[in-house]
This record gives sequence, structure tokens and C-alpha cells, in this order.
Amino acid sequence: MSKPIRIVRHASQQGSAVPAQVAHDQLQRPLRDLRISITDKCNFRCTYCMPREVFGPDYPFLSHGELLSFEEITRVAAICTQLGLRKIRLTGGEPLLRKDIEVLIEMLAALRTPQGEPIEIALTTNATLLKQKAQSLKDAGLERVTVSLDALEDQRFQHMSDSKIGVARVLAGIEKAHEVGLRPVKVNMVVRKGLNDDQIVPMAEYFRGRDHILRFIEYMDVGNTNGWNMKEVVTGAEILERIAAHYPLEPVSSNYRGEVASRYRYTDGQGEIGLITSVSQPFCGDCTRLRLSPEGKFFLCLFGGQGYDVRTHLRSAANDAEIAQFIRQMWGQRDVRYSELRGQGIVDEQGPKVEMSYIGG
Ligand code: SAM
Ligand code: SF4
Ligand code: SF4
Repeated sequence: MSKPIRIVRHASQQGSAVPAQVAHDQLQRPLRDLRISITDKCNFRCTYCMPREVFGPDYPFLSHGELLSFEEITRVAAICTQLGLRKIRLTGGEPLLRKDIEVLIEMLAALRTPQGEPIEIALTTNATLLKQKAQSLKDAGLERVTVSLDALEDQRFQHMSDSKIGVARVLAGIEKAHEVGLRPVKVNMVVRKGLNDDQIVPMAEYFRGRDHILRFIEYMDVGNTNGWNMKEVVTGAEILERIAAHYPLEPVSSNYRGEVASRYRYTDGQGEIGLITSVSQPFCGDCTRLRLSPEGKFFLCLFGGQGYDVRTHLRSAANDAEIAQFIRQMWGQRDVRYSELRGQGIVDEQGPKVEMSYIGG
């Protein structure tokens, strides 16, 4: 259990300027990415993320007043830029449900690193509202989108997402995003054995030769509500084998340290795919991601049970330097590597974990 972190006001911290210095954790991982979940609500009920039996009409979703405001989110992000932040991803719940998200994107797009570089801003969405919003998101300063799509066949898709929305709407969102310059669009497919693994090859077939990058995600044991079972995981190696039986693939080196997907390209030049093997081949050693919940709790791992409340500090008299110190200390004691330890069989999979729909992917 980590030590609680308190803001202590030292005479030397009275000014609010945050000294620029990259924060490192116990495993020497720098703080590079911030994933900001801006709502815990969603118009889908994906069975692996928000099972309807749990997230029903009586579920206590956060009220508007509990959410961090755009100003609060931007303040946190600005402080993090002094600690090494280079990339922000907006997520949820469904981030496009948050009213005026374009305003937030504009505010975040104005941030700069200590060297004067812009921060890369991306978004993960189920794309149901993407066709109508793609242009305004791009105009606000968004650079890229990742779209979740688990099947090409309507029936399968509706079963996975537990919704009545058709695949055509998601595909239209993808095309629009591409058209306005939010590219390359990455498409994430979570594979759950027996539910949608028959869609692996059709999905590969559909996205081959288009300019989008399809990535397959191993079904993960996030949260405590989806009843995860190892038997339902189709490993990256198996996915690769199934696609390569139709379309030969070869590995490509990663774009940068910490890239979560292993990349493969079709040998006939029809593009590439990615495999996110969080279960079979964890990548905690390069995990530089800090996560912020909609109500202002930091999580140091997707599988974290403990959140670190920053909202209280944002709504107190604490200045930026003090909040930076809080974040630095929290990151400095980070030693989490859940997936690696799960692989070694030394974590409690049933222990308390934050829900994916609350903290984002
Ligand atoms: N609603 C948006 C969406 O679906 O793209 C953003 C939030 S969603 C929680 C982010 C990503 O997490 C999605 O790509 C989703 O497929 C993935 N995800 C959710 N639960 C998962 C699980 N149990 N295993 C693997 N990926 C999961
Ligand atoms: Fe909603 Fe995304 Fe979770 Fe599906 S994966 S229920 S779209 S938050
Ligand atoms: Fe990062 Fe935690 Fe995932 Fe490991 S399990 S890669 S530490 S989020």
C-alpha cells in the first residue's frame, strides 16, 4: 500500500512557478502520457466494459458538479507538462458525450512543453458521434482518433456493444475523421473468444488496403464487473496466426519507446496491423501513462485500486508548484506493473480495481 501524499507548504514553494524537471517513478519510467477520462457515462454497454446488469438505470454515475471543469483539467495538464508530459489522450466513458469537448481540446492544444513544443492530443471514441463532430474536433486542435469497433457484422457488433447502433455509423465516423485529417485513424478491436473472434479475419480483410490501422486488443481483466476469464482471451500470437494464414505478415519495429502495440505489415504492401498483448506479453516496463478520472483522481495503473485525489487540491488554495510537488511525489513512489505480475501469477485478480468506463482505456 502506497503512503498517503499530502501537500506541505514550504517557504520555498510560495511562488507558483513549476520547475521544469521530468518526473521518474521507482522503475525509472518517465511521466510522458496523460489519459484523461472526461465522463463515466456511455451510450454503449459493451459486455466487457459496462455490463448492463451492473451499469443499469440505477447506477450512480457522477453528477456534473463532481466532474473536473475544463479549467481544472487544463491546469493539471499544464502542470504535468513541466514534469515531462508530451501526449494527452481524452477518453471515458464516451468522451464525445461531454458537452463542448471542443472547448477543452482548444484549451489543451494551447499547452506547450518547457521547450515550446505543442502537446500531442488524441481521443478514443466509439465513433457514434464522430461523423458530426470530426471537423469541429480537428478545428479545435485534435490530432488523431482511435475508434473502437469489435465486429463488422451488425448482429455481432450489437451483441458486443449491447446497443442498437449499426456498424455503418461507426464506419462513417472513421471515414469522416480520415477525410478531415485526423489520420491515420486507429481502429481497436477487443477480441473475446466465442463472441467475436470469428470477426478477426473479416475485420483484417476490410481494413487492409485502407489508410486506417487496425489493432487487436487482448481481452483484459480490468475492473471487477465483467467476469473476466483467461479462457476468453485470444492471444496476440493466435490472432496473428489466423490473419497470416490468409494474408502473410512481417514484423515492423516500433515507432517509439513505450508504443503499446506490436506492429506487423502485410507483405503485399496493403498496410499494417497492431497487436496489444497486455495479457500474454505485458509491457509494463515502458508504461509512462498517468491516468486522471472524471472527478479528479489520479490512477497510476489501469488496474489500480487506489486513486489519488487532486480535485481537493485544485479546489483549495494550493498553488501550481504545490500541486506539481504532489504529482511528483505520487509518481515518484509508483512501482506498479500489474500485468507483468499477473503473468507471473502473483497478483490477486479479484482485488479491487478501477472500472474501465470510469478511467478509460
Ligand atoms: N468509449 C470509448 C471507446 O470505446 O473507444 C473510450 C473509452 S473505452 C473504455 C477505451 C477502450 O478500452 C476501448 O477501445 C475499449 O474497447 C477498451 N476496453 C474496454 N474494456 C476492455 C477490456 N475488458 N479489455 C480490453 N479492452 C477494453
Ligand atoms: Fe462505452 Fe467504450 Fe466502454 Fe464500450 S468500451 S461501454 S463504448 S466506454
Ligand atoms: Fe501500465 Fe499498469 Fe498496464 Fe502495466 S498493467 S502497462 S503498469 S497500466
